[in-house]
Amino acid sequence: MKIQDIQAIQLLLATPKKIAIIPHRSPDGDAMGSTLGLYHFLLKNNHFPTVIAPNEFPDFLAWLPGSETVKIFEKDKENCTKILEESDLIFTLDFNALHRVGEMEHVLVKMKAPFIMIDHHQKPDDYSTYTYSDTSFGSTCEMLYNFISLLDKKEDIDATIGTCIYTGILTDSGSFRYTGTTGNTHRIIAELIDLGVENTKIPTLLFDNSSYSRLQLLGRALQNLKVLASHKTSYSTLTQEELNTFNYVKGDTEGIVNYGLSIKDIIFTAIFIENKDEKIIKISFRSQAGFDVNQFARDHFNGGGHINAAGGKSDLSMEETIQKFENLVSKLTI
Ligand code: 5GP
Ligand code: MN
Repeated sequence: MKIQDIQAIQLLLATPKKIAIIPHRSPDGDAMGSTLGLYHFLLKNNHFPTVIAPNEFPDFLAWLPGSETVKIFEKDKENCTKILEESDLIFTLDFNALHRVGEMEHVLVKMKAPFIMIDHHQKPDDYSTYTYSDTSFGSTCEMLYNFISLLDKKEDIDATIGTCIYTGILTDSGSFRYTGTTGNTHRIIAELIDLGVENTKIPTLLFDNSSYSRLQLLGRALQNLKVLASHKTSYSTLTQEELNTFNYVKGDTEGIVNYGLSIKDIIFTAIFIENKDEKIIKISFRSQAGFDVNQFARDHFNGGGHINAAGGKSDLSMEETIQKFENLVSKLTI
């Protein structure tokens, strides 16, 4: 981030402000961790922050401190629009293009308040007044830690803010496994633990709170897994009917895509999840090392993300989507 931008933001934050903080639609651990971490930091600095999520966040994040204050745009458009209109400043966290907030985009584009983007996705759009974008970071939460430090406020980071930051670093790094996990990441984690962040409790809250039906849904997804061995690719599917059979609730499919990469020699994997309400197939892509799923998702499935983790969608039926995917994969040289 440019020194002039830091100084401008320090000036903006020098007096109490009404501030909206926005994660992407279907927020994950990094999106909720970073927005709530920033929320607690701004509260501590005498501001009036509100986190407005475009839609519901999953239950497995509901223990995050401050999550009970989060407003859900798609449930209460009128009130959320009013909060946005009255905001002096708008932070957008963990996304790089306004369409990532869904319907809320139409409201955001009309806002006159300055925008501050903090994000680690590739190719950020040019909508923010101040942009802290860096794809070398594994998580927006790690960037938030640096952002607060750049503002010369590192001493404000306490166990509450740290808990939020820890959550996003943990979830977006695949529990410290993915590229982008650096010595600095671990140094930050060490500092957070010293501040009292409960590093052994948080993974349990996030990952070991599964319902029986979620495990059965995982079992079905694993049974549905197909391997295209000659192209080092695997993929799985979950239809709406299968989701219904296992009493799907939001968050239940989180992380399932990663199993496709745990097969020896597989470099590229995907999961196709039917959403009858939205009339789309939502797709998650994951890869190892050199294969760029961000580009693949952008080129073929109206999506994007990072080199090794991206998402997209398809308006075709499940069968047609799979056909399209298999055709594309057959032309890949991985
Ligand atoms: P996931 O597969 O966990 O939903 O998403 C993986 C990564 O890709 C995340 O960083 C997420 O923000 C991004 N992503 C997921 N879906 C989309 C999409 O439809 N469009 C774009 N641009 N990025 C996406
Ligand atoms: Mn992220």
